[in-house]
Amino acid sequence: MPRFRALHVVSELFPYVKTGGLGDVAAALPVALRRIGCDVAVLLPGYPAITRAMTHRRTLWRDDDLFQGGPAELCSVRLQRLGVPAYVLDCPGLFERPGGPYADEDGKDFEDNHRRFAALGFAAARVVERQSGRILVHAHDWQAGLAVAHAKLGLAKPPPCVTTIHNVAYPGTFDRAVFAELGLPAEADSIHGVEFYGGISFLKAGLYYADHITTVSPTYALEIQEPGQGGGLEGLLASRAATLTGILNGVDYAHWSPESDGHLPAPFSADDLSGKRQARIALLERLGLTHRNDAFVMGVVSRLIAQKGIDWLIDSIPWLVEHGVTLVVLGAGDRDLERRLSNDAHCYAEHVRFIRGYDEALSHLIQAGVDSMAIPSRFEPCGLTQLYALRYGSPPIVRRTGGLADTIVDASPEARRSGTATGFVFERADGEGLREATYRALVAHRDRATWERIQRTGMAQDFGWEPAARAYHALYRRLLDGRHAPGGPGAT
Ligand code: ADP
Repeated sequence: MPRFRALHVVSELFPYVKTGGLGDVAAALPVALRRIGCDVAVLLPGYPAITRAMTHRRTLWRDDDLFQGGPAELCSVRLQRLGVPAYVLDCPGLFERPGGPYADEDGKDFEDNHRRFAALGFAAARVVERQSGRILVHAHDWQAGLAVAHAKLGLAKPPPCVTTIHNVAYPGTFDRAVFAELGLPAEADSIHGVEFYGGISFLKAGLYYADHITTVSPTYALEIQEPGQGGGLEGLLASRAATLTGILNGVDYAHWSPESDGHLPAPFSADDLSGKRQARIALLERLGLTHRNDAFVMGVVSRLIAQKGIDWLIDSIPWLVEHGVTLVVLGAGDRDLERRLSNDAHCYAEHVRFIRGYDEALSHLIQAGVDSMAIPSRFEPCGLTQLYALRYGSPPIVRRTGGLADTIVDASPEARRSGTATGFVFERADGEGLREATYRALVAHRDRATWERIQRTGMAQDFGWEPAARAYHALYRRLLDGRHAPGGPGAT
């Protein structure tokens, strides 16, 4: 088939801008696609961390006042830490400001987010119309939803479009009154367009106009079609079942391998776990915790939000301490959860540490230094933390949902016998479920041979990006060939 370019439109990119797994995916998937021969480029907002890093700048298009954000330039650039070409929408009025990618330093969403990410979508259409060969748009999450709308409605020859849902709980909703500021034709202001329960949803736009929808694990693809689990989009998603697939995310083992991880005191592998013991000592010493060989050290590295089941964890802290668990939590998010964790860390100072904030280096040391990582999510589209935990020999304790269900094999008696167990999985959606699985982990941990077998089975799992890259590449080819079942407007 003739060459084509896949344009990924995404609002985060590790290591420059990252609030969660989206940034990891944006850095790894395009590179994995390129490795299998796909021509890929990434379009990003010009946040300060991005514009500082870009080189080989070539301006493709400019505007004096883009979406009320002042002068803007759409540039073709290179980013040293990204192995594929990039386009950056350099518009200081929209993107150069303190705070995170979506919110100010106090965590308050920027008031012009609708214009910021409408501008990103508009820029995606400008990239498409400047491309001489064939091109396909791959939009990630709500922030890129309007790229699909602008590409489908604003171009004489609309490209095929794929939208990937990384988390349906973030629909990117705004007041209906802002429609006039989005640069879309009036026809889009309807239930057959961007309208969503009387307001506007950027994710809905991305889904409605896409030819194909993907999400980041097979189980999550089914869950989000169920009532109450699709964030209000379940009806649309169920009607698109034929053009909705779950493709499991991968791990970037270049950054996440204990054999080569520069954040650890010593490397380790399944054949030689002595470096893991050093990581444990380094972690406990750094956090001022006493080092006891028999203690079971449990780690949590997470955004602190209801989705992640942090309240179940907090409810379980007295039980965990009573059962000899040392708990290390790194994260930031909901102020109430942060406050409760701080209180408990204070009350149980010998056994619980809470490190509030975001710390990439410490997240690696925790993965390596603990016995087990806990991910008790209410729902989890894919989850990366449990995949890192497998590789770092820290069998995870997870709830059976979304990508956690697809990646972790519970240490049931049968799975232990067949040597396939990699972690501890619970069903119940409460603290009791977490405690039940933790109890089983504690028992397994007492038997060194059993534990090491589970560790080694987990460490041997390969969740690299290649299978995902191949699945996306095959999907792109089907869409460009026209061999694809019709999706997009009219199909719903
Ligand atoms: P989500 O995207 O919902 O946050 P994932 O498990 O897919 O969840 O990805 C989370 C990513 O963010 C992982 O790379 C994890 O290590 C990282 N992360 C989350 N919180 C922190 C933190 N406080 N410090 C460092 N890394 C974090």
